[in-house]
Amino acid sequence: MGEREIYVLGSINVDLMFTVDNIPQAGETLHGLDYLENLGGKGLNQVRAMHELGAKVVMLGAVGGDAMGEKVLASLRGWGISDNYIEVMSHVATGLACIIRMRAENRIILHAGANFAMTEKVLSPLLAVKPGGFFLAQLEVPYSLVLMGMKVAKTNGLTTILNLAPARLDVQDILPYVDYLIVNQRELELLTTIYPREEVDVQLAFTQLRQLGLQRLVVTLGAGGVLYVDAYQTIFVPSYRIDAVDTTGAGDAFVGAFVATLAQGSSMKDALYFANAAGAYACLHVGVEQAMGKREDIKAVMK
Ligand code: ATP
Repeated sequence: MGEREIYVLGSINVDLMFTVDNIPQAGETLHGLDYLENLGGKGLNQVRAMHELGAKVVMLGAVGGDAMGEKVLASLRGWGISDNYIEVMSHVATGLACIIRMRAENRIILHAGANFAMTEKVLSPLLAVKPGGFFLAQLEVPYSLVLMGMKVAKTNGLTTILNLAPARLDVQDILPYVDYLIVNQRELELLTTIYPREEVDVQLAFTQLRQLGLQRLVVTLGAGGVLYVDAYQTIFVPSYRIDAVDTTGAGDAFVGAFVATLAQGSSMKDALYFANAAGAYACLHVGVEQAMGKREDIKAVMK
């Protein structure tokens, strides 16, 4: 089966990361120990994860009409990711994350900028898609657009995946249009009040969500692995035993690998196993960019 196109509606941020040994008090100015600028945002991270795996990805997103926005678009083109469907919004700033890192802990201030200002126009490529492809979204862009995107994608014969990150409670209206819902433990707890520790917790949560129209639930359990539930089966995939150095980006690596594997025509079970290894690979590397492995890197984790 051939590779199918994956449309991703999601956020794009520039991450400005300052490493410090103290947090400045009111009125105080401190020199940082180190400074790093990376591209991030869940949407772009997941697009990069899929691109590294050779998937045909189309990113639907927005940047501001500022220097940061130009930089983002140039980077996308440099990586070989098309910027054809990235809206440039002249009146707003590109999404920014100011990350203050002290003793391996992050404090983050976000400015959503163009990510929250994007309009319906960003969904226009979905109106002319070939059936059989995939549509993936997270919630760092307006919910109304994610909902509209899911409906249009479903109507046009795409398989739809929602990564409910960050978590949101009022999602009853979207669940009937979602083929796969992917959440971590905290997100599932916020959504259902059930914190998943064991298989039975995930089954219980699925029963709740099924009544709202959901068909398939994937729950990532960090170092606990991953659990999948649908109306007919439950699959548990234990995590790899690794010495994790930085778990940032594990969730995005997982989602990207899962969808990229489905788009190749592999079975859902194979996609879960491969994504579990992609998540483990991410934990072996510091930084989000380094977290996204190539196919052979991830296969090496599986040996
Ligand atoms: P993050 O927000 O840190 O990017 P997340 O909370 O969305 O991640 P997790 O459930 O922590 O997602 O991790 C996603 C997947 O990555 C897990 O299901 C698992 O496959 C893998 N993973 C995460 N942490 C570990 C670990 N310590 N050891 C092995 N695999 C891990």
